[in-house]
Amino acid sequence: MEYINKNNAAGGKKMIYPIMDPYGSNCYLIIDKKVILVDSGANSGTIKRINELTTHVDLLINTHCHYDHIANDLSIKGIGAKIAAHVLDASPMERADDLYVNAGLFGAACPKIMVDQKLKDRDVIELEKTKLQIIHTPGHTKGSICIYEPGSRSLFSGDTIFTDGIGRTDFAGGNLNELKNSVEELLKLRVDTLYPGHGPSGTGEDIKRVYNLFFGVKI
Ligand SMILES: [Zn+2]
Ligand SMILES: [Zn+2]
Repeated sequence: MEYINKNNAAGGKKMIYPIMDPYGSNCYLIIDKKVILVDSGANSGTIKRINELTTHVDLLINTHCHYDHIANDLSIKGIGAKIAAHVLDASPMERADDLYVNAGLFGAACPKIMVDQKLKDRDVIELEKTKLQIIHTPGHTKGSICIYEPGSRSLFSGDTIFTDGIGRTDFAGGNLNELKNSVEELLKLRVDTLYPGHGPSGTGEDIKRVYNLFFGVKI
């Protein structure tokens, strides 16, 4: 499942390549003047595909610290990327906290991943033509973020929300009430394309539908 989104920002030159990692998480390669990767996956096939699409990555932004989203980080660092993550998820990555990053779930141990850029809510990352707004969306983990690209109205939602559900809140750092508040923040954005951390891409309508499904109706 990979395609080029032609309806993207300014001049239509920016390309977003969704890459489905065999572990089930999605990575997104944003190729503009600079190359940005959203999450790195956990499988060598994903690294191979990234290498086919680009010779280097300028910035790798992790949506959160779970193993299936970060395990390839050091390989991406090896092709020039700086690593960015929310400050609250950077610390378990830096101390290789296997429990918090869920490495055991994959029968693996996590390497120590030093984070070059520690993000917080409302940070704006500007790399040449690409502008990314960081939205802190705790609930799945304490330091989960969503990344909004206003030019194309794209939202990279990590494991906060998918087209068919919300992220699990039963792992370390999870909290359902925080997740609800986080999704309410996302509802304030104009989103044309939703790029979640698992499953197919969707639209802003999916955020509304999933919110109503999980939080809108009180039983
Ligand atoms: Zn996760
Ligand atoms: Zn995930």
